[in-house]
Amino acid sequence: MEASAWSDLLEALLPQIDPEVVSVAAMEPLLPHGGQERTVAVLQGAARHGVPAGFVTNGVYARDFFTARADLPPIDFMDVSVDGPPEIDARVRGPGHFALVDDLFRSNVWRVAVNRVYASCVLTRWNSEPRLLSTFLEWMKRTLEEPRLVLLLLYPNEHVDRSMFLNDEDLLRTIDLLVRESRHFAEILLECFPSSVPGLAKLVEQGVLPGDDELLRDDAGMLYGHVEDNLFVRYANLADFELFHLRITPEGDAIPPENLERADYLTGSYGSIQGDGWQKVRQTILERSQARMQRQFHSACGTCPCATLCRSENYRCPLIREQSVKLAIL
Ligand code: SF4
Repeated sequence: MEASAWSDLLEALLPQIDPEVVSVAAMEPLLPHGGQERTVAVLQGAARHGVPAGFVTNGVYARDFFTARADLPPIDFMDVSVDGPPEIDARVRGPGHFALVDDLFRSNVWRVAVNRVYASCVLTRWNSEPRLLSTFLEWMKRTLEEPRLVLLLLYPNEHVDRSMFLNDEDLLRTIDLLVRESRHFAEILLECFPSSVPGLAKLVEQGVLPGDDELLRDDAGMLYGHVEDNLFVRYANLADFELFHLRITPEGDAIPPENLERADYLTGSYGSIQGDGWQKVRQTILERSQARMQRQFHSACGTCPCATLCRSENYRCPLIREQSVKLAIL
């Protein structure tokens, strides 16, 4: 959709859903030749309705964006993707990307418009190696006055090189390091998808990660718990994503959370927000969400303290794998 269509969509939608936050994410929101105009239209639309808004960027065009645009409303957050220290970031995002982000963070270009800046990093087996992760954290402390870090625990799927998959030891070591470092950070958020680590159940049971009875819902509806004062974990299961997050595609469709990774992301769309109307789309979301909620938990999950946060979505979990093997033998 063009920028004006985004303005119209938000003008009609925001008063009906009254969201906590609007975020422009996925693909690159600051691409020149149209992308920046659309992002500004969304930020301005949110500002007109008093909704905090920001974007997730790779940082490549951020300098141009801030220097060229005189029409920016206050931006609540800018989340810059960087995948670890230079040697790892170069493998994932290409040579020169780390230096570009370093230059952006140190510059003043974003400071007049942006309230909070985050570095967001997908935590993998590669960059969770202690020396590399320590180097990365040291860089953040040196570079930002108020360092804020989002660590997205890798969501393992068929698009990801298996050598990057996190295991339990990688996460244990990482949490140990983050606990020691968290007082130097304004905020560290771990975003954990149920299948990010195979031993999620064990880590919850051991108290390394907060379990069901220690969790709260954040303003965006997602379950979270504290590991330390400035260090918290947010659990991202599909059922919560479906019910509390609305994902709008470049075409103006609302889509289910599992479609985000797919090339055919419009297949199974809830509908077009403007074409079908929000009330019809909302009804479809509620019906599908109800059907998802009614699905039985795996019997191995029983009364595990991870049941609500995971909802049997951890396909790497040894508990459900063992039971499947036993049933296959029987
Ligand atoms: S699959 Fe079941 S036991 Fe394993 S982490 Fe999820 S809820 Fe817990």
